[in-house]
Amino acid sequence: MRPAARFAPETIWSAPGRVNLIGEHTDYNDGFVLPFALDLRVRVAAARRADGRVVASSAQAPGEDGEALVAALDPAAAARGWLAYPFGVVWALRALGPVCGVDLVVDGVVPAGSGLSSSAALECAVACAVAELSRLALSPVEIALACRRAENDYVGVPSGAMDQLAAMCCTAGHALFLDTRTLAMEQVPLDPAAAGCVLLVIDTGHPHSLTSSSYADRRRSCEEAAKRLGVRALRDVTEPELGAALAALGDEVLAGCARHVVTENARVLEAVHLLSAGRLRELGPLLHASHASLRDDLEVSAPLLDLAAETAEDAGCLGARMVGGGFGGSVLVLADAAAEAVIREAVTAAFARRGFEAPAVVEVVPSDAARREDVAELAPRG
Ligand code: ADP
Ligand code: MG
Repeated sequence: MRPAARFAPETIWSAPGRVNLIGEHTDYNDGFVLPFALDLRVRVAAARRADGRVVASSAQAPGEDGEALVAALDPAAAARGWLAYPFGVVWALRALGPVCGVDLVVDGVVPAGSGLSSSAALECAVACAVAELSRLALSPVEIALACRRAENDYVGVPSGAMDQLAAMCCTAGHALFLDTRTLAMEQVPLDPAAAGCVLLVIDTGHPHSLTSSSYADRRRSCEEAAKRLGVRALRDVTEPELGAALAALGDEVLAGCARHVVTENARVLEAVHLLSAGRLRELGPLLHASHASLRDDLEVSAPLLDLAAETAEDAGCLGARMVGGGFGGSVLVLADAAAEAVIREAVTAAFARRGFEAPAVVEVVPSDAARREDVAELAPRG
C-alpha cells in the first residue's frame, strides 16, 4: 500500500473477502451459512482529522476521492459510487458514539463484484480503523452489524449480515457456521491442505449484481412462500415437512424457493457434521447438490456459472458450485490437489471454445478476520 505523500497513517486495518462454502440464499430466510475468510484483503490506512470531515480515496477508484462532514452524513442524500461504503460506515458508527474526522486511504485485492464480498471487506476495514481512532469500544459483532446497517440503509443493498460477520469473526483454518436468526456462531475446522485438497475460486468475469431486480424478486418470493405457509421464515420448514409444504404452496416459483431453502439448510448442517468429523473430501456431493438447487429450484445461476461448475466436475473435482447472490460472479471448486492443473486447463479451454476470456482461477485458503496491521511496516520508506 502506498499512502499519499503527505499522509501519515495512525493506524492500518485490513479485512478479508469471504466465500461461502455452502448455504446460499439462506441468510435472508433466517437460515444457516458456512463462510470462510479469504487470504485476499482490503486495507485502509487512516488518521484523525481536526475538521470533523471524512476524506476518502481508493487505489481501486482513481479520480473518485471524496469528502463529507461526519455530522452531515445522511442516507437520504447518500454519496454515490464507492464512497457510499466508507461514508455509510461512518454514518452507521455515528449511532454508536462520537466519531472523529478521518482520512481514509484504501487499497485492496478482493475483486469487486465477483461474489467474494469486497464490499464487506471494505466496510469492515474502514469501521475498525474509524472505531479505533474514535475510541469506540465495539465488539467484532457490533462492528459487523454496523457495517451491515451501512450497506442496507446507506448504500441501499438489502443484504444479510453474513458477509460482515465473516469479515469480522472468521479464523484461519476454519469456516464459520452461522445461524443467521440467532447469530450463534461456531468455528468449524476447514483445512484443505491437511486433507490433500485445494479450494479454487473461478471468477467468471461476469459480474453479479445484488441490486438487480432478480435478487430482490427471489427475496420477495421466499417471504411470500413463508407467509403462505404460516411460518416466520422458510428456515422454519424442516425437511420432513417439505413435501406437504410444496403441495400447500402449489405455485411453481414459490415451491422452488421453498425447496431450495429447506434442502440448502439441511446441506449446511450435513457439511458442518462432515467437517467436524474431519471428512472434508466427502463435501463434494453437497456442493454439487447446492449448485443444482440454485440452478433448477431457485433459478439464480447463469450460463457461465454452469459452464465453470460443469467443466470442473467433468475434469474430476470433488464438488463445485456457484457462490454469492447469483446471475454471475464466481464458482467454488473443491478438488484433490493433484487435479488442480487439469481443472484449470479444462476451464480455460471450455471458456475459450465459447469465445469467452479465460476466467481468473485462484486458490483460496481459509484465513483470519479483520486485523490491525503494523503501521511501521507499511509506511512509506525514506
Ligand atoms: P462484492 O461485495 O461481491 O464484491 P458488491 O457489489 O457488493 O460486490 O460490492 C462491490 C463494490 O464495493 C464496488 O463496486 C465498489 O463500490 C466497492 N469496493 C469494493 N472494494 C473496493 C476498493 N478496494 N476500493 C473502492 N471501492 C471498493
Ligand atoms: Mg457485496
